[in-house]
Amino acid sequence: MKYISTRGHDKELSFEEVLISGLARDGGLYLPKIWPKISEEDMCSFAQLSYQEIAFKVMRLFTGDTFSDQEFIKMIDIAYSSFDHEAICPLVQLSKNHFLLELFHGPTLAFKDVAMQLIGQMFESVLRKNKLKVTVVAATSGDTGSAAMAAFKNSDLVNVFILFPDGRVSDVQRRQMTTLSRPNIHALAVQGDFDDCQSLVKQMFNDGDFRETVKLTGVNSINWARVMSQIVYFITSAVALGVPKRRINFTVPTGNFGDIFAAYVAKKMGLPIDKLVIASNQNDILHRTLKTGIYNKKTLKQTISPSMDIQVASNFERLLYELYDRQSKFVNAAMDDLISDGKFEMSNQAITKFRKDFLSGCASEELTLQTIKQTLNDYGELVCPHTAVGLAVANNLREDYGDVPMVTLATAHPAKFPDSLKNCISQTPELPKQYQDLFSKNEVFIQVKNNFNDIKKIISERTTV
Ligand SMILES: *Cc1c(COP(=O)(O)O)cnc(C)c1O
Repeated sequence: MKYISTRGHDKELSFEEVLISGLARDGGLYLPKIWPKISEEDMCSFAQLSYQEIAFKVMRLFTGDTFSDQEFIKMIDIAYSSFDHEAICPLVQLSKNHFLLELFHGPTLAFKDVAMQLIGQMFESVLRKNKLKVTVVAATSGDTGSAAMAAFKNSDLVNVFILFPDGRVSDVQRRQMTTLSRPNIHALAVQGDFDDCQSLVKQMFNDGDFRETVKLTGVNSINWARVMSQIVYFITSAVALGVPKRRINFTVPTGNFGDIFAAYVAKKMGLPIDKLVIASNQNDILHRTLKTGIYNKKTLKQTISPSMDIQVASNFERLLYELYDRQSKFVNAAMDDLISDGKFEMSNQAITKFRKDFLSGCASEELTLQTIKQTLNDYGELVCPHTAVGLAVANNLREDYGDVPMVTLATAHPAKFPDSLKNCISQTPELPKQYQDLFSKNEVFIQVKNNFNDIKKIISERTTV
């Protein structure tokens, strides 16, 4: 399998190169040259297989000859041995035709672990084979950071620097990043919001010299391997619910558009998905784009679902490329407009295509809290605020997607957001065993201004590659 960039200026790369480089050198995002297909017959046979076995069959279509089958099977097994549920991503039924897909059974209690645990394995393998060391820099809205740290904390080939918006992640999220106490792991509290952090990381990637010197690489959802690993649970959950003999819908609590783009890829591969529902919090840029065809940045609002407090949804560029029939010139024009005017307008044809596959909705803070309460009352399930945004939107759009079963993604464990929950239900969810001492541990992090040169300096000083 060969990979190409959405901006069209980069050469074709192998999976291994895409894994290690993250962002394309022309500023775009990598995508496979063609979408591999899974036949109906293969999908039927998946019903007999474990999560790990399906993961192998799906992802090997993308990894080419980077790993031998035997090595890849072993890596998948190790990655998911850190999960505390045998099904890895189990389904819970809420009501007739509405299901929750629990993605928070990994080591840091959010869906980011599903991809990151495997990326840790894939990096080790590729770096060891090529005798390389790299520096991972990533921006986090709360969950990517700890997931990346957990994936690389035992590596002597990877330095990790995580930029998080100071004061804008939950205490549990921050402590998961600041209490690891490993020489190769660094938490940077940036005076700014997530979009500032993401923009700093992008600047680092566009600084050729710096990129070379520290051997910079990225594991944000712009890294194709993240998206690839997330395709798997859309397929396993669909198959568990009777696909391909029936159709299915998904609602995805959305921030950077990585997770829901993985669902779109699953559809491209042949999974009979009817509608993909984009669920936003008050940062509703994608919902507005679907309604109006205009992608227009507004000021970021701080909400009780912090991991979705994002205005610039990086992965949307991948969908744009698809909506414009893979013609880079339209993506380039849109991205230029975004930089110069803070917005771009989609063609009528592209909007029509967008609306064919996707629905969207957004939830206010009040509705999110009300949904948490109601889900606990009605079904005995305590959900995190991100999941509640998904449930609220899925419930609201019921008439638009009809009788086809709906799967809403439960993206984080409620115990990661005790403060948000305290205000709406009387109980605080208990942290799982491995985090019982989280609040007695010593925190270490570096506070930095939203300044490119300051941060570059900090990273250079602490990096040996
Ligand atoms: C990252 C995250 C999201 C948003 O996922 P994207 O792939 O960025 O759209 C939603 N919920 C939680 C809990 C997250 O950590």
